[in-house]
Amino acid sequence: MGEDRVGDIVPDPGIEEAAAAAGVRRSAPLVRERTGGDDELDRSLRPQRLADFIAQDQVTEQLGIFIEAARRRGEPLDHVLLAGPPGLGKTSLAHIIATELEVPLVQTAAPALERKADIAAFLTALEPGSVFFIDEIHRLNPAIEETLYPAMEDRRLPVVLGQGAGARTVTLDLPPFTLVGATTRAGLLSKPLHDRFGLTHRLEHYEPADLARIVARSASILGVEIEPGGELAIAERSRGTPRVANRLLKRVRDFAEVRAAGVITEEIALEALSMLEVDRAGLDRHDRLILETIATKFGGGPVGLSTLCAAIDEEPDTIEEVYEPYLLQQGLIKRTPRGRVLTERGFAHLGLPVPEGAATLF
Ligand code: ADP
Repeated sequence: MGEDRVGDIVPDPGIEEAAAAAGVRRSAPLVRERTGGDDELDRSLRPQRLADFIAQDQVTEQLGIFIEAARRRGEPLDHVLLAGPPGLGKTSLAHIIATELEVPLVQTAAPALERKADIAAFLTALEPGSVFFIDEIHRLNPAIEETLYPAMEDRRLPVVLGQGAGARTVTLDLPPFTLVGATTRAGLLSKPLHDRFGLTHRLEHYEPADLARIVARSASILGVEIEPGGELAIAERSRGTPRVANRLLKRVRDFAEVRAAGVITEEIALEALSMLEVDRAGLDRHDRLILETIATKFGGGPVGLSTLCAAIDEEPDTIEEVYEPYLLQQGLIKRTPRGRVLTERGFAHLGLPVPEGAATLF
Protein backbone atom coordinates (compact mmCIF):
# COMPACT_ATOMS: atom_id res chain seq x y z
CA MET A 1 0.00 0.00 0.00
CA GLY A 2 1.50 3.35 -1.07
CA GLU A 3 1.70 6.46 1.01
CA ASP A 4 -0.89 9.20 0.88
CA ARG A 5 0.15 11.77 -1.68
CA VAL A 6 -0.81 15.31 -2.42
CA GLY A 7 -4.39 15.37 -3.61
CA ASP A 8 -7.41 13.66 -2.21
CA ILE A 9 -6.49 10.08 -1.74
CA VAL A 10 -8.63 7.15 -0.91
CA PRO A 11 -6.64 4.01 -1.48
CA ASP A 12 -7.93 1.33 -3.81
CA PRO A 13 -9.97 -0.90 -3.54
CA GLY A 14 -12.50 1.81 -3.00
CA ILE A 15 -14.53 3.92 -0.71
CA GLU A 16 -16.85 1.31 0.73
CA GLU A 17 -13.98 -0.85 1.82
CA ALA A 18 -12.15 2.15 3.17
CA ALA A 19 -15.28 2.97 5.12
CA ALA A 20 -15.45 -0.56 6.44
CA ALA A 21 -11.76 -0.48 7.31
CA ALA A 22 -12.28 2.76 9.23
CA GLY A 23 -15.06 1.08 11.16
CA VAL A 24 -17.90 3.18 9.76
CA ARG A 25 -21.24 1.47 9.91
CA ARG A 26 -24.22 2.92 8.15
CA SER A 27 -26.85 4.45 10.41
CA ALA A 28 -24.95 3.33 13.48
CA PRO A 29 -23.99 6.37 15.53
CA LEU A 30 -20.29 6.39 16.26
CA VAL A 31 -19.77 7.59 19.75
CA ARG A 32 -16.37 8.83 20.77
CA GLU A 33 -15.41 7.79 24.24
CA ARG A 34 -14.41 10.76 26.30
CA THR A 35 -11.59 10.20 28.70
CA GLY A 36 -12.51 10.24 32.35
CA GLY A 37 -15.32 8.58 34.22
CA ASP A 38 -18.04 11.10 33.45
CA ASP A 39 -19.09 9.67 30.09
CA GLU A 40 -21.89 7.57 31.38
CA LEU A 41 -23.15 10.34 33.61
CA ASP A 42 -23.10 12.74 30.66
CA ARG A 43 -25.06 10.32 28.53
CA SER A 44 -27.68 9.46 31.11
CA LEU A 45 -28.35 13.12 31.97
CA ARG A 46 -28.10 14.54 28.47
CA PRO A 47 -31.17 16.53 27.47
CA GLN A 48 -32.90 14.84 24.53
CA ARG A 49 -34.97 17.65 23.01
CA LEU A 50 -34.59 21.41 22.63
CA ALA A 51 -37.33 21.89 25.22
CA ASP A 52 -35.21 19.97 27.79
CA PHE A 53 -32.14 22.10 27.16
CA ILE A 54 -32.06 24.60 30.00
CA ALA A 55 -31.08 28.29 29.52
CA GLN A 56 -29.01 29.60 26.55
CA ASP A 57 -32.38 30.88 25.34
CA GLN A 58 -31.04 32.79 22.37
CA VAL A 59 -29.27 29.71 21.02
CA THR A 60 -32.20 27.35 21.50
CA GLU A 61 -34.71 29.85 20.11
CA GLN A 62 -32.70 30.44 16.94
CA LEU A 63 -31.93 26.76 16.47
CA GLY A 64 -35.59 25.92 16.96
CA ILE A 65 -36.61 28.25 14.15
CA PHE A 66 -33.92 27.09 11.71
CA ILE A 67 -34.61 23.42 12.45
CA GLU A 68 -38.33 23.90 11.90
CA ALA A 69 -37.71 25.79 8.64
CA ALA A 70 -35.36 23.06 7.37
CA ARG A 71 -37.88 20.38 8.27
CA ARG A 72 -40.69 22.16 6.45
CA ARG A 73 -38.61 22.58 3.33
CA GLY A 74 -37.37 19.02 3.56
CA GLU A 75 -33.81 20.30 3.26
CA PRO A 76 -30.82 19.69 5.47
CA LEU A 77 -30.08 22.31 8.12
CA ASP A 78 -27.19 24.67 7.37
CA HIS A 79 -23.85 23.61 8.85
CA VAL A 80 -23.66 24.60 12.53
CA LEU A 81 -20.64 25.65 14.57
CA LEU A 82 -21.00 25.41 18.36
CA ALA A 83 -18.33 27.20 20.36
CA GLY A 84 -17.69 27.50 24.07
CA PRO A 85 -15.81 26.02 27.03
CA PRO A 86 -16.11 22.30 27.84
CA GLY A 87 -19.21 20.95 29.57
CA LEU A 88 -21.63 23.68 28.47
CA GLY A 89 -23.78 21.49 26.22
CA LYS A 90 -22.22 21.42 22.73
CA THR A 91 -22.41 17.64 22.35
CA SER A 92 -25.89 17.65 23.83
CA LEU A 93 -27.01 20.22 21.25
CA ALA A 94 -25.52 18.21 18.38
CA HIS A 95 -27.57 15.20 19.49
CA ILE A 96 -30.65 17.37 19.97
CA ILE A 97 -30.31 18.81 16.45
CA ALA A 98 -30.32 15.28 15.00
CA THR A 99 -33.24 14.21 17.19
CA GLU A 100 -35.31 17.28 16.30
CA LEU A 101 -34.56 16.80 12.60
CA GLU A 102 -35.33 13.07 13.00
CA VAL A 103 -32.12 12.10 11.23
CA PRO A 104 -29.22 9.82 12.21
CA LEU A 105 -26.20 11.28 13.96
CA VAL A 106 -22.66 10.19 13.17
CA GLN A 107 -20.06 11.40 15.62
CA THR A 108 -16.30 11.69 15.58
CA ALA A 109 -13.60 13.99 16.89
CA ALA A 110 -10.96 15.82 14.88
CA PRO A 111 -7.98 14.02 16.46
CA ALA A 112 -9.43 10.70 15.21
CA LEU A 113 -9.30 11.95 11.60
CA GLU A 114 -5.70 11.47 10.61
CA ARG A 115 -5.83 10.93 6.86
CA LYS A 116 -8.10 12.11 4.08
CA ALA A 117 -9.32 8.55 3.76
CA ASP A 118 -10.69 8.76 7.30
CA ILE A 119 -12.96 11.70 6.56
CA ALA A 120 -13.89 10.33 3.13
CA ALA A 121 -15.00 7.12 4.79
CA PHE A 122 -17.31 9.00 7.12
CA LEU A 123 -18.75 11.29 4.45
CA THR A 124 -19.52 8.59 1.93
CA ALA A 125 -21.23 6.41 4.51
CA LEU A 126 -23.65 9.13 5.67
CA GLU A 127 -27.33 8.51 5.21
CA PRO A 128 -29.08 11.37 3.40
CA GLY A 129 -29.91 14.23 5.76
CA SER A 130 -27.64 12.98 8.56
CA VAL A 131 -25.98 15.16 11.14
CA PHE A 132 -22.23 14.62 11.03
CA PHE A 133 -20.79 15.82 14.33
CA ILE A 134 -17.08 16.63 14.59
CA ASP A 135 -15.97 17.48 18.11
CA GLU A 136 -12.83 19.57 18.72
CA ILE A 137 -13.03 20.76 15.13
CA HIS A 138 -10.22 23.30 15.65
CA ARG A 139 -7.84 20.33 15.73
CA LEU A 140 -8.47 19.20 12.15
CA ASN A 141 -5.32 18.93 10.14
CA PRO A 142 -5.16 21.27 7.13
CA ALA A 143 -5.35 18.49 4.50
CA ILE A 144 -8.57 17.19 6.01
CA GLU A 145 -9.97 20.69 6.28
CA GLU A 146 -9.44 21.13 2.55
CA THR A 147 -11.35 17.94 1.87
CA LEU A 148 -14.22 19.34 3.90
CA TYR A 149 -14.56 22.58 1.93
CA PRO A 150 -16.10 21.13 -1.27
CA ALA A 151 -18.01 18.61 0.82
CA MET A 152 -19.62 21.38 2.89
CA GLU A 153 -20.18 23.71 -0.02
CA ASP A 154 -21.28 21.54 -2.93
CA ARG A 155 -21.47 18.04 -1.48
CA ARG A 156 -18.57 17.01 -3.64
CA LEU A 157 -15.71 14.76 -2.66
CA PRO A 158 -12.76 14.50 -5.03
CA VAL A 159 -10.88 11.26 -4.47
CA VAL A 160 -7.87 9.68 -6.11
CA LEU A 161 -8.32 6.01 -6.87
CA GLY A 162 -5.36 3.75 -7.41
CA GLN A 163 -1.71 4.57 -7.29
CA GLY A 164 1.17 5.54 -9.52
CA ALA A 165 0.60 5.94 -13.26
CA GLY A 166 -2.85 4.33 -13.06
CA ALA A 167 -4.14 6.78 -10.46
CA ARG A 168 -7.17 8.84 -11.43
CA THR A 169 -9.28 11.44 -9.70
CA VAL A 170 -13.00 11.01 -9.51
CA THR A 171 -15.52 13.32 -7.88
CA LEU A 172 -18.12 11.64 -5.78
CA ASP A 173 -21.49 13.19 -5.06
CA LEU A 174 -22.28 13.13 -1.38
CA PRO A 175 -25.72 12.84 0.20
CA PRO A 176 -27.14 16.01 1.77
CA PHE A 177 -25.89 16.37 5.32
CA THR A 178 -25.44 18.89 8.12
CA LEU A 179 -22.01 19.27 9.62
CA VAL A 180 -22.10 20.22 13.28
CA GLY A 181 -18.70 21.28 14.57
CA ALA A 182 -17.92 21.84 18.24
CA THR A 183 -14.94 23.77 19.47
CA THR A 184 -13.57 25.08 22.72
CA ARG A 185 -11.27 27.40 20.75
CA ALA A 186 -13.22 29.11 17.98
CA GLY A 187 -10.32 31.53 17.52
CA LEU A 188 -8.12 28.70 16.25
CA LEU A 189 -10.46 27.85 13.38
CA SER A 190 -9.17 28.91 9.98
CA LYS A 191 -11.23 31.62 8.30
CA PRO A 192 -12.22 29.47 5.29
CA LEU A 193 -13.58 26.77 7.59
CA HIS A 194 -15.32 29.27 9.84
CA ASP A 195 -16.95 30.93 6.82
CA ARG A 196 -18.47 27.67 5.64
CA PHE A 197 -20.71 27.36 8.68
CA GLY A 198 -24.07 28.99 8.02
CA LEU A 199 -24.93 29.10 11.74
CA THR A 200 -22.54 29.89 14.57
CA HIS A 201 -23.58 29.76 18.19
CA ARG A 202 -21.51 30.55 21.22
CA LEU A 203 -22.47 28.96 24.52
CA GLU A 204 -21.82 31.07 27.60
CA HIS A 205 -21.27 30.03 31.22
CA TYR A 206 -24.57 29.48 33.05
CA GLU A 207 -26.04 31.60 35.83
CA PRO A 208 -26.45 29.87 39.24
CA ALA A 209 -30.27 29.98 38.94
CA ASP A 210 -30.11 28.09 35.62
CA LEU A 211 -27.60 25.60 37.00
CA ALA A 212 -29.93 25.05 39.95
CA ARG A 213 -32.64 24.04 37.45
CA ILE A 214 -30.18 21.66 35.79
CA VAL A 215 -29.28 20.17 39.18
CA ALA A 216 -32.98 19.74 39.97
CA ARG A 217 -33.60 18.02 36.63
CA SER A 218 -30.58 15.72 37.04
CA ALA A 219 -31.56 14.88 40.62
CA SER A 220 -34.99 13.80 39.48
CA ILE A 221 -33.51 11.62 36.73
CA LEU A 222 -31.09 10.06 39.24
CA GLY A 223 -33.91 9.64 41.79
CA VAL A 224 -32.18 11.82 44.38
CA GLU A 225 -34.14 13.88 46.90
CA ILE A 226 -32.81 17.43 47.03
CA GLU A 227 -34.03 20.65 48.63
CA PRO A 228 -33.88 24.03 46.82
CA GLY A 229 -31.07 25.20 49.15
CA GLY A 230 -29.06 22.13 48.17
CA GLU A 231 -29.66 22.80 44.47
CA LEU A 232 -28.41 26.35 44.76
CA ALA A 233 -25.42 25.43 46.93
CA ILE A 234 -24.24 23.02 44.22
CA ALA A 235 -25.15 25.43 41.41
CA GLU A 236 -23.13 28.28 42.90
CA ARG A 237 -20.01 26.16 43.07
CA SER A 238 -20.24 24.63 39.61
CA ARG A 239 -18.12 27.15 37.69
CA GLY A 240 -21.04 28.06 35.46
CA THR A 241 -20.80 24.57 33.91
CA PRO A 242 -23.57 21.94 33.73
CA ARG A 243 -21.10 19.04 33.54
CA VAL A 244 -19.48 20.20 36.78
CA ALA A 245 -22.91 20.63 38.40
CA ASN A 246 -23.84 17.06 37.49
CA ARG A 247 -20.53 15.71 38.75
CA LEU A 248 -20.83 17.56 42.07
CA LEU A 249 -24.43 16.41 42.43
CA LYS A 250 -23.30 12.81 42.12
CA ARG A 251 -20.57 13.23 44.74
CA VAL A 252 -22.89 15.11 47.11
CA ARG A 253 -25.47 12.36 46.69
CA ASP A 254 -22.93 9.78 47.87
CA PHE A 255 -22.18 11.92 50.90
CA ALA A 256 -25.88 12.42 51.66
CA GLU A 257 -26.57 8.69 51.40
CA VAL A 258 -23.90 7.85 53.93
CA ARG A 259 -24.41 10.78 56.30
CA ALA A 260 -27.97 12.02 55.95
CA ALA A 261 -30.49 9.39 54.89
CA GLY A 262 -30.06 10.44 51.26
CA VAL A 263 -31.68 13.88 51.36
CA ILE A 264 -29.53 16.74 50.03
CA THR A 265 -30.25 19.77 52.18
CA GLU A 266 -28.28 23.01 51.89
CA GLU A 267 -26.28 22.07 54.97
CA ILE A 268 -25.39 18.62 53.66
CA ALA A 269 -24.45 20.06 50.26
CA LEU A 270 -22.13 22.63 51.85
CA GLU A 271 -20.55 20.02 54.09
CA ALA A 272 -19.99 17.65 51.17
CA LEU A 273 -18.56 20.38 48.95
CA SER A 274 -16.10 21.48 51.58
CA MET A 275 -15.00 17.87 51.97
CA LEU A 276 -14.48 17.82 48.19
CA GLU A 277 -12.30 20.95 48.56
CA VAL A 278 -14.58 22.98 46.32
CA ASP A 279 -14.50 26.53 47.63
CA ARG A 280 -17.21 29.23 47.64
CA ALA A 281 -16.26 30.39 44.15
CA GLY A 282 -16.40 26.83 42.81
CA LEU A 283 -12.64 26.55 42.52
CA ASP A 284 -11.12 23.17 43.21
CA ARG A 285 -7.62 22.22 44.27
CA HIS A 286 -6.27 22.51 40.71
CA ASP A 287 -7.65 25.99 40.18
CA ARG A 288 -6.21 27.16 43.46
CA LEU A 289 -2.86 25.58 42.62
CA ILE A 290 -2.74 27.68 39.45
CA LEU A 291 -3.56 30.87 41.35
CA GLU A 292 -1.16 30.06 44.19
CA THR A 293 1.65 29.23 41.80
CA ILE A 294 1.30 32.55 39.97
CA ALA A 295 1.09 34.36 43.33
CA THR A 296 3.93 32.72 45.17
CA LYS A 297 6.37 31.37 42.61
CA PHE A 298 6.05 34.20 40.10
CA GLY A 299 5.22 37.19 42.32
CA GLY A 300 1.79 37.56 40.71
CA GLY A 301 3.10 37.30 37.14
CA PRO A 302 3.33 37.88 34.31
CA VAL A 303 4.28 34.26 33.69
CA GLY A 304 4.27 32.54 30.29
CA LEU A 305 1.96 29.58 29.74
CA SER A 306 4.76 27.05 29.24
CA THR A 307 6.60 28.16 32.37
CA LEU A 308 3.39 27.95 34.38
CA CYS A 309 2.65 24.49 32.97
CA ALA A 310 6.10 23.25 33.87
CA ALA A 311 5.67 24.57 37.42
CA ILE A 312 2.42 22.71 38.02
CA ASP A 313 3.03 19.73 35.75
CA GLU A 314 -0.02 20.25 33.56
CA GLU A 315 -0.58 20.27 29.79
CA PRO A 316 -0.91 23.74 28.17
CA ASP A 317 -4.12 22.67 26.39
CA THR A 318 -5.70 21.60 29.66
CA ILE A 319 -4.84 24.91 31.29
CA GLU A 320 -6.09 26.95 28.34
CA GLU A 321 -9.25 24.99 27.62
CA VAL A 322 -10.36 23.65 30.97
CA TYR A 323 -9.09 25.86 33.79
CA GLU A 324 -8.39 29.31 32.40
CA PRO A 325 -11.77 30.25 30.88
CA TYR A 326 -13.45 30.24 34.26
CA LEU A 327 -10.57 31.93 36.08
CA LEU A 328 -10.53 34.64 33.41
CA GLN A 329 -14.29 35.02 33.47
CA GLN A 330 -14.22 35.42 37.24
CA GLY A 331 -11.54 38.10 36.92
CA LEU A 332 -9.08 36.13 39.05
CA ILE A 333 -6.38 36.14 36.39
CA LYS A 334 -5.68 38.25 33.32
CA ARG A 335 -3.98 37.45 30.06
CA THR A 336 -1.38 40.01 29.00
CA PRO A 337 1.02 39.97 26.05
CA ARG A 338 3.79 38.95 28.48
CA GLY A 339 1.87 36.17 30.18
CA ARG A 340 -0.68 35.42 32.88
CA VAL A 341 -1.14 37.83 35.75
CA LEU A 342 -2.98 37.33 39.02
CA THR A 343 -5.47 40.15 39.60
CA GLU A 344 -6.20 41.91 42.88
CA ARG A 345 -9.31 39.77 43.07
CA GLY A 346 -7.15 36.68 42.61
CA PHE A 347 -4.92 37.68 45.52
CA ALA A 348 -7.99 38.47 47.63
CA HIS A 349 -9.46 35.05 46.84
CA LEU A 350 -6.33 33.40 48.18
CA GLY A 351 -6.36 35.69 51.21
CA LEU A 352 -2.99 37.11 50.23
CA PRO A 353 -1.93 40.76 50.11
CA VAL A 354 -0.96 42.14 46.70
CA PRO A 355 2.85 42.35 46.79
CA GLU A 356 4.37 45.74 46.13
CA GLY A 357 5.34 46.13 42.50
CA ALA A 358 3.06 43.25 41.35
CA ALA A 359 2.18 43.41 37.65
CA THR A 360 -1.49 43.48 38.53
CA LEU A 361 -1.06 47.01 39.94
CA PHE A 362 0.02 48.50 36.62
P1 ADP B 1 -19.76 19.80 25.81
O1 ADP B 1 -19.97 18.97 24.59
O2 ADP B 1 -19.94 21.28 25.57
O3 ADP B 1 -18.47 19.50 26.53
P2 ADP B 1 -21.98 18.26 26.90
O4 ADP B 1 -23.04 18.47 25.87
O5 ADP B 1 -21.27 16.94 26.88
O6 ADP B 1 -20.93 19.46 26.87
O7 ADP B 1 -22.66 18.54 28.33
C1 ADP B 1 -22.22 17.92 29.51
C2 ADP B 1 -23.42 17.51 30.35
O8 ADP B 1 -24.00 18.66 30.92
C3 ADP B 1 -24.53 16.86 29.55
O9 ADP B 1 -24.47 15.47 29.61
C4 ADP B 1 -25.79 17.30 30.22
O10 ADP B 1 -26.15 16.38 31.21
C5 ADP B 1 -25.43 18.57 30.89
N1 ADP B 1 -25.94 19.75 30.20
C6 ADP B 1 -25.24 20.59 29.39
N2 ADP B 1 -26.01 21.61 28.99
C7 ADP B 1 -27.22 21.42 29.52
C8 ADP B 1 -28.45 22.16 29.49
N3 ADP B 1 -28.54 23.32 28.83
N4 ADP B 1 -29.51 21.66 30.15
C9 ADP B 1 -29.41 20.51 30.85
N5 ADP B 1 -28.28 19.79 30.94
C10 ADP B 1 -27.19 20.22 30.30
